[in-house]
Amino acid sequence: MSNHFEVIVIGSGPAGYVCAIRCAQLGLSTALIEKETDTGDKPVLGGTCLNVGCIPSKALLDSSQRYADAKGHLSEHGIGVNDVTLNIPEMMVRKEKIVAQLTGGVAGLLKHNKITVLSGAGQLLAGRQVELTDAEGQTALYTADNVVLASGSEPVEIPPAPIDGDRVVDSTGALCLDSVPARLGVIGAGVIGLELGSVWARLGSEVVILEAMEQFLPAMDEQIAKESAKIFAKQGLDIRLGARVTGVEVTPEQVTVGYSLGDVEHSETFDRLIVAVGRRPRTDKLFSGDSGVSMDERGFVFVNEHCATEAPGVWAVGDIVRGPMLAHKGSEEGVMVAERIHGKAAQLNYEVVPSIIYTHPEVAAVGKNEQELKAEGVDYKVGTFPFAAIGRAQASGETDGLVKILSDADSDQILGAHVVGPSAADLVQQIVIAMEMAASTEDLQLMVFGHPTMSEAVHEAALAADGRAIHMVNRPQR
Ligand code: FAD
Ligand code: NAD
Repeated sequence: MSNHFEVIVIGSGPAGYVCAIRCAQLGLSTALIEKETDTGDKPVLGGTCLNVGCIPSKALLDSSQRYADAKGHLSEHGIGVNDVTLNIPEMMVRKEKIVAQLTGGVAGLLKHNKITVLSGAGQLLAGRQVELTDAEGQTALYTADNVVLASGSEPVEIPPAPIDGDRVVDSTGALCLDSVPARLGVIGAGVIGLELGSVWARLGSEVVILEAMEQFLPAMDEQIAKESAKIFAKQGLDIRLGARVTGVEVTPEQVTVGYSLGDVEHSETFDRLIVAVGRRPRTDKLFSGDSGVSMDERGFVFVNEHCATEAPGVWAVGDIVRGPMLAHKGSEEGVMVAERIHGKAAQLNYEVVPSIIYTHPEVAAVGKNEQELKAEGVDYKVGTFPFAAIGRAQASGETDGLVKILSDADSDQILGAHVVGPSAADLVQQIVIAMEMAASTEDLQLMVFGHPTMSEAVHEAALAADGRAIHMVNRPQR
């Protein structure tokens, strides 16, 4: 085997493996390096997303929602379910099977596309050389015309609450608890805190979430964040804002968390504690000082809008570069880089990357929110529509939440959409398509939406922007 490739990708997460596949599709000889191995020394492909992120968390969100439905909501439909039981080990086996199926699928795709998978830690050296260090510490040197860095991210730890992997866990540990904690503490009311807090709350835990910020979901549209907070409170999530964790005390059975709220010191005792206070780029030992690549003080690799680093022929994608840490953002960067390596003028529209919190109901957003438009001095229109007035939402018993569409007051072009409610992720995706095509609210008003669907809330919100919603009384929206 030659030690030279047209492209070497370091990291097999959704940014790296998608980039490698697109490179191979374009006819480039491609190698993909992954450092994680299983017990049989085979590389663990798929990164955070497939192994300890998006996929296992959604498997548990789905299982726990079914349990919650069986325990409670089915009775509203006149369906009685007696003796609902919970088998956590079985739930975990199902989750692991899904992970194995998908990571196996990635392995198959890499093989089919004739991508060389190299097992070990990759480090970029000067002159686009890559040193590979395998599990035994053996090193080998490879060279490439282009190197793509895609080493991903890892959970942030905070000194007052060190992870012990038992009572105090990070998101990875929270995905494989062996039993339902009677009381579960979560530090951080961000995406992970809300999703994994919801999983265990549905399975029976009393969940308290301690959040340092005074504002709930500050990056979300304020109206949607407020509405979401109400819904989560109704579900029993006890979210305490402005809580500064000062320390934890761990005993073999429990963990006591000290925190201050304003000037008052508090403490709470839990069976388990999840620390979910953000993630940081995994760039330690990823490149040598003379590689020409540099990073900021938080470890994010400097790249331009096309993900090119300062070193010629070296690119970086996914969680190690600026922008939201989202699987789909990284994958599309991977595709863009592959296309650019192949000589195409590909680009990515960062303005229309959707973000979703997979609670029940979901919270989803794309584009600008109302407070951003206000701060930028944009003259905008608002159209909102509640799910309570949607026939399908009533039929499904999913009436919480609303759709909100923001558009330019002059041109009518859609600038953003924010949804909390049933199928929020899919509804926001409709707006992603509309925004990518520079659509206006009038375009949405003129389209035919199937009845009865949740999508009708998108139609009505677009109509409401001009005071012409049909199924509610139109009132000025700002
Ligand atoms: P990663 O997926 O982290 O992959 C990087 C890979 O590189 C890893 O396999 C790592 O072992 C390997 N690696 C690192 N250094 C080296 C090296 N030196 N040599 C060789 N290999 C190396 N995002 C969403 O969009 N939707 C979701 O629903 C969602 N849910 C999430 C749930 C949880 C609990 C978590 C933790 C994250 C979630 N995310 C979600 C975020 C998503 O997982 C990440 O944004 C995504 O995985 C980043 O992709 P990546 O390819 O940049 O990095
Ligand atoms: P996050 O940034 O979403 O939330 C972290 C929260 O912790 C913030 O609200 C922050 O104010 C709070 N916090 C920080 N330090 C604290 C402290 N000392 N005490 C109390 N609160 C503190 O991060 P996350 O939830 O850990 O998720 C990490 C990343 O993973 C996110 O950036 C997200 O993009 C990605 N992710 C995405 C999804 C999804 O797309 N559905 C799901 C999970 C994770």
